[in-house]
Amino acid sequence: MLSYHQARQVILENIFPASIEQVDLLEAVGRVLIDDVVAPWDMPLWDNSAMDGYAVRSDDCRETPCQLAIDGYIPAGAHADGIVIAPGCAVKIMTGAPVPAGADAVVPFEETGESNDGQVTIQAPVRHRQHIRFRGEDVQAGQAVISAGTIIRPAEVSMLASLGRARVTVYARPVVAILSTGDELIEIGRTPGNGEIINSNTLALAAAVREAGGIPRIVGIARDNTESHREKLCEGLKTDMLVTSAGVSAGDRDLVRATLEELGVTQIFWKVGIKPGKPTAFGVKDGLPVFSLPGNPVSSLITFEEFVRPALLRMAGHRQVFRPLFKATLRHNMNNKESDRTVLLRILLERVDGEFFVSSSGKQETGLLKTMVNAAAIAVIPPGKGFLAQGEKVDAHFFGSHLDLI
Ligand code: AMP
Ligand code: MG
Repeated sequence: MLSYHQARQVILENIFPASIEQVDLLEAVGRVLIDDVVAPWDMPLWDNSAMDGYAVRSDDCRETPCQLAIDGYIPAGAHADGIVIAPGCAVKIMTGAPVPAGADAVVPFEETGESNDGQVTIQAPVRHRQHIRFRGEDVQAGQAVISAGTIIRPAEVSMLASLGRARVTVYARPVVAILSTGDELIEIGRTPGNGEIINSNTLALAAAVREAGGIPRIVGIARDNTESHREKLCEGLKTDMLVTSAGVSAGDRDLVRATLEELGVTQIFWKVGIKPGKPTAFGVKDGLPVFSLPGNPVSSLITFEEFVRPALLRMAGHRQVFRPLFKATLRHNMNNKESDRTVLLRILLERVDGEFFVSSSGKQETGLLKTMVNAAAIAVIPPGKGFLAQGEKVDAHFFGSHLDLI
């Protein structure tokens, strides 16, 4: 049986990048850039004012206060072609407007006093080059400003837009087929009768796919017979990745692995040394990864988080695919029965003076959904750790986005 870390490694060795596509800038957010972006022009494109005020020759203002004749006005959006500041003169200028020839400083309004006769009083000392944004000060034409492999955030969008790049080439969002299995499942929309369970896994996994930047394709429910499995699994294999839930244990109705094999999927592993989620299986068919997750809603989401999410991110070109681990201190003793496997605990987090403290989100049975809803993070407890004492530090990572904690 592979360990938690081995399984994560083996999965990544079998994942290849999705196709690439050119998309509008806004569609690129959260995605990974394929090529270096080279600036086609300088930024700023011309010397411009950093303040609302007066463009001046600093030589005229060696001694302050001094008076200059107001000779012109350059609002934002106007050009300064043909405007030259003569000695003893100042030009009224707005933030962002081009600095006229001859000027080497801008004096903000706050440091001036205007009089009625077309004169302005410069009240504070003026430094050469003050309050001017110079051409190419930020970015020079030909310079690589964003490198291949960068995740596009609003900051990158800002830079790309400023450089006139309306479209960029990024990795495609992987299309992930989601298939649930089981005779007991009904689709959401009616109250379950005796023996029936709402197919929540499909929606939960589709949500997780979406959160990880993929496109979920819901295939529906395969019933507990080979025919139905064959049909639905075939459909799922027409995407970039297939994720199934349930039917992967050793029960006589657990048909997922056998049917996948029949359809030409090579099993890479079945069973991982983790709790929950031990019966997870992983296989490939012609480069297409297939994850068979356990059916318990808690197990399926946690195995998605630990195994599918990194694969999906890698497919989409991300370099960092595992959530970073941080140390957190236990608030109370925890008894860990399954010490021969890596235990993935659903935990509550609290931050006090910059330090994370952990407590259990409740009983860790896989049937208990509420603990998962409450959990802000997952603690990764290595095998062999039977008992965890209060005050001990454990490794943990966030589970989903928890902006309120960051
Ligand atoms: P199985 O692996 O088929 O034995 O399923 C394990 C448990 O997960 C059973 O209690 C199922 O009812 C439950 N389960 C399986 N599939 C789903 C699903 N799509 N949504 C919610 N619960 C499920
Ligand atoms: Mg089943």
